[in-house]
Amino acid sequence: MRVLKALAAVSLFLFSPAVPSLHARETDLRPALPATAQAVLVEAEGFAQRGGWVVDPQFMDQMGSPYLLAHGLGRPVADAATEVEFPAAGDYRVWVRTKDWVAQWNAPGAPGRFQLLVNGRPLETTCGTEGAQWHWQDGGSVKILERRVRLALHDLTGFEGRCDAVLFARDPQFTPPNQDPEMAALRRVCLGIPEQPEPAGEFDFVVAGGGIAGTCAALSAARLGLHVALIQDRPVLGGNNSSEVRVWLQGARNKEPWPRLGDIVAELEQPRRAHYGPTNTADLYEDDKKLALVRAEPNIRLFLEHRANAVETESGKILAVVAQEIHTGRRVRIAGRWFADCTGDAAVGALAGADLEIHP
Ligand SMILES: Cc1cc2nc3c(=O)[nH]c(=O)nc-3n(C[C@H](O)[C@H](O)[C@H](O)COP(=O)(O)OP(=O)(O)OC[C@H]3O[C@@H](n4cnc5c(N)ncnc54)[C@H](O)[C@@H]3O)c2cc1C
Repeated sequence: MRVLKALAAVSLFLFSPAVPSLHARETDLRPALPATAQAVLVEAEGFAQRGGWVVDPQFMDQMGSPYLLAHGLGRPVADAATEVEFPAAGDYRVWVRTKDWVAQWNAPGAPGRFQLLVNGRPLETTCGTEGAQWHWQDGGSVKILERRVRLALHDLTGFEGRCDAVLFARDPQFTPPNQDPEMAALRRVCLGIPEQPEPAGEFDFVVAGGGIAGTCAALSAARLGLHVALIQDRPVLGGNNSSEVRVWLQGARNKEPWPRLGDIVAELEQPRRAHYGPTNTADLYEDDKKLALVRAEPNIRLFLEHRANAVETESGKILAVVAQEIHTGRRVRIAGRWFADCTGDAAVGALAGADLEIHP
């Protein structure tokens, strides 16, 4: 069942005009993809098993979607894999969206090399070997014999190989678009993502960013009786104080004249600590405890693995935040009365047009 769900999320079929309910989609796609170019798009972050690859959503505002990163500190990571249902057997031209991440410094060696395996067989092309910018690397042609196909990303180096997406096109002349708005249209149509964000409710208080600031704000507001939305772009809460970054939590809390200020921090604080280095292990950060505390609050709706990347404003006032789900690309509209920007980067403020200066 999980595999089927993943399939639904990652695979797209551009169908023949004989499928009436999909006509509208085909029309939408016309600027991006000719109707003849039956294609299957698979977003890397939608792979059902990610193996040792990690999802990096940091640049999805620029790229439109996250990508998978082989962060192995020099040891190749385990394969990411997924199954995809093709519309038909036949010959397909393969494109892999990637880059050589050291090319911008003219550094040799292409350390982020990886292979795409189709039903266990690697393409002849090694991916991640060309181009300083994200681009569709031509992977040549493959013959698909059966509609159900297993794909895998096979890391060769353990040094930050990057894969954004894989596309199989029936039309050998078709080159996938590499820039928005065409690329966004391709993704939307291929993955069946609605053009408008889906309504996800109205809240008293919408918190963007689930680091310690956002988690405390959400817990506090919920306990005071507000209906709260907490939007966090990672699979865990805590931000810098999560197992992902590993900065421990402590501070001058519960001091006069505000003796209760810090009660929630105390609930979140982890008793065991280690200084930076090998003893600073992931378990010390008790990610599960933070998630359990938030999930125990009936007044909080947690939008985990959602990135706030648009706002709706009227007369200079924020009405709603739009958040994009990391793995599927689906977008939700989260409306509210009050908003807290706890992204650590003032992301919501910047999106809303607040004055912004960035200093090195
Ligand atoms: C190495 C290091 C050492 C430090 N040492 C100290 C110290 O000794 N003393 C001290 O006082 N401070 C220290 N700090 C700073 C302290 O860790 C931060 O000030 C604090 O963690 C900020 O918490 P936050 O919740 O505001 O932000 P963050 O911890 O940055 O959390 C923000 C969260 O929001 C998420 N997010 C970002 N954008 C979006 C979006 N658009 N949509 C949804 N989610 C989003 C992020 O993924 C993140 O999880 C240190 C920081 C680092 C990195």
